[in-house]
Amino acid sequence: MTQDLLKGLQEFKKYHYDTENSRMQMLAELGQDPKYFIISCIDSRCNPVTIFRAQPGIFFTHKAMGAIVRPYRQGTALSAALQFALEYNNIENVIIMGHTGCGAIKALAEKLDDPEISSFIEVARHAHTKAVSCCNNQDDIIAHTEQGVILESMENLKNYPSVKKALKEERISIKAWQFDMKSGDLFEYNADKNGFTLMSIEENVLDSRQTK
Ligand SMILES: [Zn+2]
Repeated sequence: MTQDLLKGLQEFKKYHYDTENSRMQMLAELGQDPKYFIISCIDSRCNPVTIFRAQPGIFFTHKAMGAIVRPYRQGTALSAALQFALEYNNIENVIIMGHTGCGAIKALAEKLDDPEISSFIEVARHAHTKAVSCCNNQDDIIAHTEQGVILESMENLKNYPSVKKALKEERISIKAWQFDMKSGDLFEYNADKNGFTLMSIEENVLDSRQTK
């Protein structure tokens, strides 16, 4: 039943272990130095490692339903992970990446009757209430809620002590992204435009990737 996973592992080893000067062997010996910390949804279709086709050692990931960042509380999985990443590593960007078609946001909008789930996602209710007050149809309400939750998560994130400290010391920047599952496009919140704008790759980056 898990053979598909083992097949993937076989390919991973082929590319990252079975070659001379392999990246994994280097990372295992010298340690990691990731520059990004990505908070994403648990959804299997928008895994950052998959969609960014990331090499090992590029980023830390933390997953939560809806990529929701709840208000700070000491001792949570996220607060410990951020503390480790920001105090003991050289993280430069903390990214919250939500996505369209998010099951967590749908559950929020439809008031899913499941206390285990609703007790977690309920913290995002404010974004849904705001969306209901400004949108006329369910699709727009969901779309506004999805983006609103990302922005509220970003505000909550700024109150985590490790994040607050790193921001004060100008060591990190925080980014709010949304992955459009249908198109594969990535959008970034732009405070000046008060909205999410399409991200595109810069020419020099495109060239350097092509030459690898
Ligand atoms: Zn989701």
